[in-house]
Amino acid sequence: MNKKRIGVYPGSFDPITNGHLDIIKRATKLFDEVIVLIAYNSLKTNNRFSVKEREEMVKDAIKNLKNVRCESYDGLTINFAKMNNAKFLIRGLRVVSDFDYEWSLAASNEFIDHDIEMVFLMAKKENTFISSSNIIELSSMGVDVSKLVPKKVNEYLIKKNKNSD
Ligand code: ADP
Repeated sequence: MNKKRIGVYPGSFDPITNGHLDIIKRATKLFDEVIVLIAYNSLKTNNRFSVKEREEMVKDAIKNLKNVRCESYDGLTINFAKMNNAKFLIRGLRVVSDFDYEWSLAASNEFIDHDIEMVFLMAKKENTFISSSNIIELSSMGVDVSKLVPKKVNEYLIKKNKNSD
C-alpha cells in the first residue's frame, strides 16, 4: 500500500499568483508530495489562458520546489485524486466569501467520497487581496503586478496586454 501522504491542490490557476504559490510552498511542508492540479471542464471555454499556457506558468513557478508537480485534468478532481492515491485536497482561504464557496465544495466532495479530507490553509495577510481576476483587471489597466505574480506570469500578462492594444 502507498503510505505517501499526497495532497492535490486543485484550481483554475488562470493565472497562478503569488497567493497560490504561497499555499503550494506551505503545502510542500505538510505532504510528501503535492500535485498542483489545473482542473478544467472542456465544455467551459471562458478561460483567460489556455490549459497549456496555465500549465507552463505553474511549472515555471514551481521549478525550484522539490516535492511538487503540476498536472491538468478534465473532470472531477476527486477522480483525479483517487487515480493518484491522494487522500487530501488542499484549498486556500482568503476572506469570508471564500468560506461559503469552500463549504459547499467540501460538502459535495464528502458526498462523493467520504475518504477524501479537505485541508484549508489561510492566506497570508499580504495575499488576501490577490486573485487571478484581480490580477488580470489591474494588469489590463496598466498597473505593474510584477510583485504579485511569478515572473513567467508577468511576462505572459505583458504580452497579452500588448496584443490587445
Ligand atoms: P477555483 O476556480 O477552483 O477557485 P482558483 O485558482 O481561483 O481556483 O483558486 C484555487 C484555490 O486557491 C482556492 O482554494 C482559492 O481560495 C485559493 N486562492 C486563490 N487565491 C489565493 C490567495 N491569494 N491566497 C491564498 N489562497 C488563494
